[in-house]
Amino acid sequence: MGGIGAPFTAWISPFRGGRGGVCSSNCNHILRPSSPITDLSVKSIDDLTEAEASTELHRLAAAIAQADIAYHQNDAPEITDADYDALRRRNEAIEQRFPQLVLVGGPSAAVGAAPAEGFAKVRHGIPMLSLGNAFDDADVADFVNRGRKYFEKEFLRDPGFQLYFTAEPKIDGLSASLRYENGVFVRGATRGDGAVGEDITENLKTIKNIPQQLKGSDWPAMIEIRGEVYMSHAEFQRLKAHSAKFGVQEFVNPRNTAAGSLRQKNPEITASRNLDFFAYAWGISEDEAGLAQPPAATQTEAVQKFKEWGFVTTPLMIRTESKDDLLAHYTMIEAQRATLGYDIDGMVYKLDDLELQRRWGFVARAPRWAIAHKFPAERATTILAGIDIKVGRTGALTPVARLAPVTVGGVVVENATLHNEDYIAGLSNDGAPIRNGVDLRIGDTVIVQRAGDVIPQIVDVVLDKRPADAVLFVFPEICPVCGSPAIREINEKTGKVDSKRRCTGELVCPAQAIEKLKHFVARDAMDIDGLGDRQVSQFYEAGRITRPADIFALKARDERAIKKLKDVDGFGATSVKKLFDAIDARREPELDRFIYALGIRHVGETTAALLAKTFISMDAFRRVAIEATHAEGDKHAIFPQIGGIGDTVRASVMAFFANDRNIQALDDLLAEVSPRDYIVTVTADSVVAGKTVVFTGSLERMTRMEAKAMAERLGAKVAGSISAQTDILVVGPGAGSKLKKAEELGVEVISEDEWFKRVEQ
Ligand SMILES: [Zn+2]
Repeated sequence: MGGIGAPFTAWISPFRGGRGGVCSSNCNHILRPSSPITDLSVKSIDDLTEAEASTELHRLAAAIAQADIAYHQNDAPEITDADYDALRRRNEAIEQRFPQLVLVGGPSAAVGAAPAEGFAKVRHGIPMLSLGNAFDDADVADFVNRGRKYFEKEFLRDPGFQLYFTAEPKIDGLSASLRYENGVFVRGATRGDGAVGEDITENLKTIKNIPQQLKGSDWPAMIEIRGEVYMSHAEFQRLKAHSAKFGVQEFVNPRNTAAGSLRQKNPEITASRNLDFFAYAWGISEDEAGLAQPPAATQTEAVQKFKEWGFVTTPLMIRTESKDDLLAHYTMIEAQRATLGYDIDGMVYKLDDLELQRRWGFVARAPRWAIAHKFPAERATTILAGIDIKVGRTGALTPVARLAPVTVGGVVVENATLHNEDYIAGLSNDGAPIRNGVDLRIGDTVIVQRAGDVIPQIVDVVLDKRPADAVLFVFPEICPVCGSPAIREINEKTGKVDSKRRCTGELVCPAQAIEKLKHFVARDAMDIDGLGDRQVSQFYEAGRITRPADIFALKARDERAIKKLKDVDGFGATSVKKLFDAIDARREPELDRFIYALGIRHVGETTAALLAKTFISMDAFRRVAIEATHAEGDKHAIFPQIGGIGDTVRASVMAFFANDRNIQALDDLLAEVSPRDYIVTVTADSVVAGKTVVFTGSLERMTRMEAKAMAERLGAKVAGSISAQTDILVVGPGAGSKLKKAEELGVEVISEDEWFKRVEQ
């Protein structure tokens, strides 16, 4: 199911006399050209026979149920909100015309889907309801006029009578109900199907702006506060950046991410996601005797109370008796939409007076006294002119759609993300079909969507408009930036193929180079003083350093260069000399640090140490890895199984050494540096064995990490601070408080030279 091109997306307005195939003026929906009359999904409701209506109601019920499950239970909507609304609206209109055909347990009976397995069920004291929808200004006028008509007598009786409405943004998040007993938060639940939700108390407790204890004292003895849990754009971007760096999960939009975060089995994950909450409604509200006690007399006052009790409430709510004011507020908020910092998908208008709300009452599943006014979907149709491949700093190849420029929600869009090659092929990350499994071809007419400040996406393709010469896109298996093979890894834990194809040119790919170089020189890797992120970027952009080997050739090249480094802004003779010295001081790195510094994917410090320990020398590691890479059949026979190193890491090491460009880059580097063989033996009879040693000040002959490793190899214990247990303090220049303390405690203090003299005896 799903999407434009599927039959039910054609828009038929039952309230406009069923002008099948005619869209309202602000509608972006694509119509199927000359749909056959036998296709019930596009047949005007006025023309449906009873038998056809029955068939159509069953079809709609199935489609809505499937969409509900995707949205509520799996947090992975399959169709757009606009398409969903169209389904619901058509269903309602047919039910209106054929009330005798309304299905028991059909779409009009339920709100959302029943709770998913895995969470305890919570029955809401008062059901959590959905709102009816207004789709245009006329629907809003109808809503206000219905209210005026309903309370006609009040207007006649009292010339000063006014019917006030509130207008507030509709937050695009997840509804939750929070139960407070005597001011204490005791239980929280999702909306679920409206009657029964899921107990997510522990997860809700991690949300900072949900008070555990209400402020003040004028709250009802028991109240269910209702509102929306959402994720801010800033938090969404932070998570996306994080996942881009580390990897696996892809976040689609803030709403789904909030939903996924809120329904984590582990509340610590929820806590790490920084969700927010707006309070705007309530369910049960009772005094100590269990009698109904509304929080206030009006909606406006109730929300004010929530604020006093410690909740965050929307600052964008107004109260007015004028329909024009409601619409003006709608227009104003819609214009601010992209800058609010969180997603909203429309406005909600409510009758302000609670007593009048009660009198006006409910119809089916929705209150009569409230209505949601959705914003038009921010989508447009355009042509997919081409697909470019962008290589990210982790080596991931991301396809980007080049589009014929089109305005979407007030912004000109020329590019859209296509996520990965499966997405182009019409498959989701888990291999299930998306867009009915239809692939994207160059020349296709596509639907582009912008939601908030998320990168525009292609959400659908209009198959009917596919030209005969549309070009199938073949995803490159070679990195377009460096020419290295690009591969899809297999996730060791899930056994699944990674959705991202990655360039294996780790040391040679310019797209990855700066990050790799920064990693190479970092403190925990080669630890080159004076070569930080800023200098690496500067040298890279100036073309002085593009690969690790260039770092060690820097001095020699500078001697030959016309424009000397010391004459470059930000450098001087002294700092250049210091930098060259720091580089020279690292020409014999420890093997484990060197392997780690290479930045082979998945090879962290621990793995690097395991590799160093196994192979002892860089030469052996290099030789065996290359041999195993080129071996026919069982590579394991050559490259030994190493405890603590799994298949993903092995595959990654193999991929690194299978790339001749990496080997060239490595060999160039090895022409400059000579990693020391890994020493595994601990010398138990050294002069410092069993002693507790502290290093302080800026050591000149070794890095702090080298000092630590050296001392440990000699059987000493290295501590971070001075205590009565300290035996030796090794000081470099600039030693401060530690030296003072050592002297106070009578700890032996020696210089770095003295240290070497002792341990080298
Ligand atoms: Zn590359």
